[in-house]
Amino acid sequence: MKAVVMTGANRPWEVREVPVPKAEPGTVLVKVHASGMCYTDVWATQGYGGDIYPQTPGHEVVGEIVEVGPGVHTRKVGDRIGTTWVQSACGRCPYCRQNRPLTGQTAMNCDSPSTTGFASQGGHAEYIAIAAEGTVLLPDGLAYTDAAPMMCAGYTTWSGLRDAEPQPREKIAVVGIGGLGHVALQLSKACGFETVAITHSADKRDLAVQLGADQVVANGKELRDIGGADVLLVTTNDFGSAEEAIAGLRVDGRVVLCGLNFNRPFSISSEGVPFHMMRQRVIGSTHGGQHYLSEVLDLAARGKVKPIVETFSLDQATEAYDRLSSGKMRFRGVFTPSQGH
Ligand SMILES: [Zn+2]
Ligand SMILES: [Zn+2]
Repeated sequence: MKAVVMTGANRPWEVREVPVPKAEPGTVLVKVHASGMCYTDVWATQGYGGDIYPQTPGHEVVGEIVEVGPGVHTRKVGDRIGTTWVQSACGRCPYCRQNRPLTGQTAMNCDSPSTTGFASQGGHAEYIAIAAEGTVLLPDGLAYTDAAPMMCAGYTTWSGLRDAEPQPREKIAVVGIGGLGHVALQLSKACGFETVAITHSADKRDLAVQLGADQVVANGKELRDIGGADVLLVTTNDFGSAEEAIAGLRVDGRVVLCGLNFNRPFSISSEGVPFHMMRQRVIGSTHGGQHYLSEVLDLAARGKVKPIVETFSLDQATEAYDRLSSGKMRFRGVFTPSQGH
């Protein structure tokens, strides 16, 4: 089968012919219909996930089960499924021994989880074998290309919004209108919150309004001038913009960090009224459990959130990586390996 392969740290993606994986016990073999590109694919390619090479990236994977491994009773051939960043946990490390109820969350914090596109093969390929317990059934009628970005971009931002625990009449500001942010705006609006988009890009202002933003501002000072927000949902890895946006955060406001940045820490400015005097909080957020994933998939199936995607064949991997790594992707790149270009 054809697969995109990371061949070494900071080396370009290559398309290679590799063996189709086997449906081992506890796993399902999936024909990939769509596999979204997350900026974390770039971090993986740059070596931040350790020496995992050669490996196929991609953790926004959806497709159709074509074979079921021994011992799998919950999935069938023909099921439309998806998987996320973390498929399964070791079940034995100190974290696993806490037996937390949220499957996705438990797997995330395990000492040695099976991670899609890192320790295990990712989705930018024609087929993938996935731990059955790490799959979710897709709602009927939801297109594969709309479902794939929900597996990380949707899941991440929905978890961030949930973790902020917004109250009725509170105002949400989404920082950064990219792969995550354009989904976050729609999710906030779907819940009925007054929503502000914060973007430096003048050319994204109209789109932000179309996606549901009630107002669009360029930075935290402008946010403060229109009355501020109770939640800053940081969907960008541009922590400089996120730090500046705190200028527009109200008393008791929450900053939710959804974007990853391994190159610099997130810090809080000492300018203006001190952060603690405003009783503000910074919340770290990640995939919060598969019940959150189900919620966001349901919103997508009902048309409340629709990602804007650029599709690519596996053969276009080099071009796709260039667009992804340079921040030019608008707004989510998705490989469609089954479409045969
Ligand atoms: Zn991701
Ligand atoms: Zn574990």
